[in-house]
Amino acid sequence: MLTCEAVDVWSQFLEYVKTKCSLTAYNNWLSPIIVLEAGEEKVQLQVPNIFVKEYLLSNYKKELCAFLPTTINGEPSIEFVIAKQEKKILSPAIHIPKPLAMPTQMENTSEDPFVSFESKLNEQYLFSTFIEGPANQFVKSAAVGVAARPGQSYNPLFIHGGVGLGKTHLLHSIGHYVKENNKRLRVQCITTEAFINQLVDSLRNKSIDRMKRFYRMNVDVLLVDDIQFLQNRPNFEEEFCNTFETLINQKKQIVITCDKPPSQLKLSERMVARMEWGLVASVGMPDLETRVAILQHKAEQKGLEIPSNVAFLIAEHIHNNVRQLEGAINRLSAYLRLLNQSITEDLAEKLLRDMFQLVVREKLTVENILKSVSAVFQVRVTDLKGDGRTKDIAIPRQVAMFLAKELINESLVMIGNSFGKTHSTILHAVKNIEKKIIEDETLRRQIDMVRRNLETQH
Ligand code: ADP
Ligand code: MG
Repeated sequence: MLTCEAVDVWSQFLEYVKTKCSLTAYNNWLSPIIVLEAGEEKVQLQVPNIFVKEYLLSNYKKELCAFLPTTINGEPSIEFVIAKQEKKILSPAIHIPKPLAMPTQMENTSEDPFVSFESKLNEQYLFSTFIEGPANQFVKSAAVGVAARPGQSYNPLFIHGGVGLGKTHLLHSIGHYVKENNKRLRVQCITTEAFINQLVDSLRNKSIDRMKRFYRMNVDVLLVDDIQFLQNRPNFEEEFCNTFETLINQKKQIVITCDKPPSQLKLSERMVARMEWGLVASVGMPDLETRVAILQHKAEQKGLEIPSNVAFLIAEHIHNNVRQLEGAINRLSAYLRLLNQSITEDLAEKLLRDMFQLVVREKLTVENILKSVSAVFQVRVTDLKGDGRTKDIAIPRQVAMFLAKELINESLVMIGNSFGKTHSTILHAVKNIEKKIIEDETLRRQIDMVRRNLETQH
C-alpha cells in the first residue's frame, strides 16, 4: 500500500541525500527510483537497473536504515523491482544510467575504438623486477593484494609519490599480474591525458554514450596513470568521477597513480573524497641499500657487471629519482660497449659527473652556499647576508650569488629574493665574478673549493 506517509519518508530521505551528493549523481542514481509500495515493515522500490540498487545499498545503507523500515538483522527492509525496459516510466528529462546488457564472450572488444587509447603495458614493469625496500614495501604489497583479488580488497588503490619512483612500474605490474592470472578479467590501462583525449574524440564523434558504455561494461580493472593531469579540467573531472563511481559500485577494481596525495590535488571535494575511499599508499625514494640493489639489478639486465664500490658511489650521488639511476646504467653500458675498459670509481665519476651535479642542483639552497662560502673565505654568514661593502665581504658575497646562479635551478628574481636583493644585483655580481676569475687564480681556486665542498655534502 502506498501511503502518503511512506512517500513523505522517501521524500525526506531524498532531501537528505541531496545534501550529500552532487546533482549529477542525484539525477543519475536517485531520482529514477520509484516507490511502488510502502508499509511499516517493508518498502518496495522500482529501480531502472541492478546498478542503481547496488549504488543505493553501498552508499546509503545507513541513511536508508534511518528513514525506512529495517529487518531484524538491521538491514533496510527493501524489495527491489527492476523496471521492465519497454515501460517508459520515467521523465525523459532525467538522465538515467542505461540498463546495459553484460558483455558476452562473443563480443569483440578489440574493435572498439576506445581500446586504441589504451596504454600498452610495459613488458619490463613486473612485480618480479620491482626491487623492494623500506620506502616501497607497503605500497608494493598493497599492489600485489589488489592484483590478486581485484575489486575485493582496497578500492580504489591510490598510489602517490615523486617523479621516477616506480608508480607506473607498479601500475603496469598489476595489469600484467591480472592478465596472467585471471584471463577472464578485462584490464584497461590508460593515462589521464589519453582518457581526456578519448573524451574529446568521443564528444566530437558523438560517440560519448558508446565510450561510457565501454568503460561501464567492458572494463573489470581500470588502471589510471597520472591523475594530476585532471586538475583544472572541470568538465572532464565530472565524467571521470561518474565513470569512477559506476565502476566502484560494480566492484570493479580501480588503481590510480598521482604525483601527490589526494588532499593536495586541486580537484573537487567529491573527487578527492572518491580517491580516498580505498587505500592511499605512497611510494618513497628507496634508501641507499635499495638503490644499490636496483642499480645491480638494472646492470644485470643489461649484461653489465658493476663493482659494489661503483654502485655505492652512483647510489650515493643519485638519490631522488630511480629513473636517473637507470640513466646512469644506460650511459655506462653504452660507453663500455664502445671501449673495452673495466668500470672504476674514477671512470664512473667522469662519465656521470653531470648527472651527479644535477642532483646537487636540485637539493642545494642559498643557505648551503652561504655556509660553504663562509667557510672557505673565512667570513661570517651574517656578514654575507648584510650590506657591508668592504672588499673582504663584498667579493665572497658576490661569489655566493655567482654560485647560486650556477648551481640552483631558479630564476634570477627567485635567487635575488633568497639574498634579499634584486635580480639586477645578482646579475651584476655574476658578471663581476666572471670577469675577475679570468685573471685571479686564487679566487678561481677558492670558488672551486666551495663547489667541491658543496658536492661532497649533497
Ligand atoms: P613514476 O611513474 O613514479 O614516475 P616509473 O614507474 O616510470 O616512475 O619508474 C621510473 C623507472 O624506474 C622505471 O624504468 C622503473 O622500472 C624504475 N624503477 C622505479 N622504482 C623501481 C624499483 N623499486 N625497482 C626497480 N625499478 C624501479
Ligand atoms: Mg609514471
